[in-house]
Amino acid sequence: MPCEICNATGWKTVETDGVSRVTRCECWHQETTARALSSARIQKRYAHCELTNFEQHYDSLRDAYRKAVRFVEQFPAVEKGLLLIGENGVGKTHLAVAVLKAVVRTKRIQGYFYETGELLKLVRDTYASDTNEMDVLRPVLEADLLVLDDLGVEKTSEWVQETLGHVVNIRYSERRPTVFTTNLVDSDDSTHPRSFLYRLGPRTRSRLFEMCEWVHMEAIDSREVGGPDATPEQIQRWEKRSPLSPKNRERARTALPAKTGGQARAHFPPRDGKGELKWPGGRAGS
Ligand SMILES: [Zn+2]
Repeated sequence: MPCEICNATGWKTVETDGVSRVTRCECWHQETTARALSSARIQKRYAHCELTNFEQHYDSLRDAYRKAVRFVEQFPAVEKGLLLIGENGVGKTHLAVAVLKAVVRTKRIQGYFYETGELLKLVRDTYASDTNEMDVLRPVLEADLLVLDDLGVEKTSEWVQETLGHVVNIRYSERRPTVFTTNLVDSDDSTHPRSFLYRLGPRTRSRLFEMCEWVHMEAIDSREVGGPDATPEQIQRWEKRSPLSPKNRERARTALPAKTGGQARAHFPPRDGKGELKWPGGRAGS
């Protein structure tokens, strides 16, 4: 159906104080936004991810949600991007995708979603073809907003560190906001196999500090688990038994008529980025 307002021209006439001028029709904006969203490279499995259906069962997730909403509202006048840190399954990617969609819709910009491993593969593939690596990197470096998912998942190497460092560095120096997700841990021990230092190197880690707000996300209630100093065994026991643990929540949601809301929650001590809970490591298969 062609637009009745503009007769499918994409332009309409508006009158202000007796002076008429031509402006873009709303249908044109809608189409442009739809095109921007469909070219944002958001995978089908994340199609449902919105701010409105992000699950905020815990303090740290509510805090992450508030920071995400503020980022969307203030974009593009944001001081920093977001670095969403947490174990698999807490909703980091959901929140990052939701932010990207909301910014594309409301600010009429072009943004892209890349899984870090996929991006590195795309760059690597150019070496065996006629494609220039800049053809792959240009949208990544120049996007108004970039989501880089699962930073640090790739087995580290000098090339991986250099390539990711280049992306981070250019976006930092051009002041282009980036939303990262990662399950790396911020340890000062550079031999820790899941530390930013080990996976990405000290320069990229300090760039990330400068260009992003670090947002820790935990689907865990510290009091329930056994306090902030819970042992890995206590956490494992909690994961297995508690209806609130990420493992059991999916089942509970389908079985219960309503969400368990409104009950008292333990409050997390403020994060200094160093006192992460002693998790037993990434979950199997994730
Ligand atoms: Zn129109």
